[in-house]
Amino acid sequence: MRHLIISDIHANLAALDAVLAAAGSYDKVWHLGDLVGYGPDANEVIDRLRSLPHFSLAGNHDWAALGKLDLRYFNGDARETAIWTQNNLTPANRAYLESLRPIALEEGYTLAHGSPNNPIEEYILDPLTAELNFSIFTTQVCFVGHTHWPTAYFMAKDSDRVCLQRAAQWNTVVSLNDGRWIINPGSVGQPRDGNPDAAYGMLDLESGEWEHRRTKYPVEVTQKKMRDLNFPNRLIERLTHGH
Ligand code: ZN
Repeated sequence: MRHLIISDIHANLAALDAVLAAAGSYDKVWHLGDLVGYGPDANEVIDRLRSLPHFSLAGNHDWAALGKLDLRYFNGDARETAIWTQNNLTPANRAYLESLRPIALEEGYTLAHGSPNNPIEEYILDPLTAELNFSIFTTQVCFVGHTHWPTAYFMAKDSDRVCLQRAAQWNTVVSLNDGRWIINPGSVGQPRDGNPDAAYGMLDLESGEWEHRRTKYPVEVTQKKMRDLNFPNRLIERLTHGH
C-alpha cells in the first residue's frame, strides 16, 4: 500500500491537481487538514478530495470556515477569506467538513493537523517542540501539517531523547523503520519555505519508506481566480514566492 500524504491544500485546485498528476500510483490519500481558507476553490477542492479514496483531518482554517474558531485570532487577510469561505461552502461540503477531526490514528500512524499536543493550534517549528510532542503520541511515526514547512524530526532509539531536525530531502527514499519520526509533508496550496512548488510526500506502508516530493503547478491560474474574487493582494502575491 502506497499512501499519498498531503496537507494544507487551502482551496488551491490547480496545486492539488498537479500533485495528483505527479504522484503516480497510490492507494489512498491522507490529508492533514486545512482544505479551505486563503484560496478560491473551496468547494472544488473538497469535491476533488471526496472523489478519491482518502482520509482527511480538519485544520484550523476548516474550523474557521465552520464558525468553530474565533476569527479575531486570525490576521485580516485570513479572516477575509474565512468569511468568504463561510458564505460560499455548499451545505454538503459544510457537512463534510463538520465530520472531520483534527487528530486521528490511522493504520498505525498518528495524524495531527498542528501537533499531537494541540492539534488545532500548535506549530511544530523547532526540535524542542517536536521533542515534547514525542511523549504525547505512542506510534512510531506521526504526520503533521499546519506550518506549511516540509521537514522531519527524528528521535533515535538510544539518543538520550535528543530530537534532531532533518531538512526535507527531495525525491529521496528515507526508511522510517529505526527510531521515531514527526514528518511534515509541507503545503500543497500555500508553500511558505521560499519555494512556490506544491509539496507532498509518498509513504510505503509495507517497507516503511517515505519520500518528500515537490511539483510545479500553474500558480497564475489560482491567482487569476483570487483577483477576480477581490481577494487580498498579499495572499495572491505570496503564491509567486512561496512564503
Ligand atoms: Zn494551513
